[in-house]
Amino acid sequence: MSKKTTTRKKSTGRDTKPAKVAAEPKLAEYRRKRDFTRTAEPEGGKSPKAGQLAFVIQKHAASHLHYDLRLELDGVMKSWAVPKGPSVDPSVKRLAMQVEDHPIQYNTFEGTIPKGEYGGGTVMLWDRGTYIYGGTNPDPEEGLRRGLEKGDFKFILKGKRLKGSWVLVRTRSDSSGKPQWLLIKHKDEYAKPDFDVTAEHMTSVATERTMDEIAGGVSRIWHSNRGEKNGDDKKSKAAGGEADGRKSDGSAYERLMARRTR
Ligand code: MN
Repeated sequence: MSKKTTTRKKSTGRDTKPAKVAAEPKLAEYRRKRDFTRTAEPEGGKSPKAGQLAFVIQKHAASHLHYDLRLELDGVMKSWAVPKGPSVDPSVKRLAMQVEDHPIQYNTFEGTIPKGEYGGGTVMLWDRGTYIYGGTNPDPEEGLRRGLEKGDFKFILKGKRLKGSWVLVRTRSDSSGKPQWLLIKHKDEYAKPDFDVTAEHMTSVATERTMDEIAGGVSRIWHSNRGEKNGDDKKSKAAGGEADGRKSDGSAYERLMARRTR
């Protein structure tokens, strides 16, 4: 991957480094490709919260259907477009094209990107959770950075639908210079030979909507939010708000909701 903007890196904890500043240059390509006056996708750049490393997979019906695998590292989401999506069968290797880093705020995005805009189409939150380093370096984050550089990125997913040990292996760069990787499930108790996990799960992990329902702006949250108290409902609310092409601003959402439930 690209050169590091930070050279020290004793990794004493994520809360000690200026994540916002560190992430800014990494998101330049992401921002250049998008017109934030037209798309509801987040601009990014806020300091990420301390804690575990996030992962998300978004099913994206753009010009070609694909799954976007995003793994948090150093204040951004490292991202790969996986045309056929992940496979939990260890004998199956899935092509994964590395794309520009995305902001961590992208992890709650579900909705539609306007036609004609970069990546125009429907985005579904297909899986999400946290992940940890799966290699042997005693410093986990350093191990992840090295793995990314070496093209041998080992990680353990703790998602709703995907769990266990995985690896991304870099093979070559395509003609445009985009690094190509293979996404492979390691053999462990979560491996399932001959199981089609993308066919098994056709709805949003956040809102249970289908791609068509997301595209149509249908929200199930508006009909089931009477006692919204826990964090999951909050997240779904954000996803539902954005699904309609709106920022998940509380008051706008409340007005929208009032209108829809009439
Ligand atoms: Mn995509």
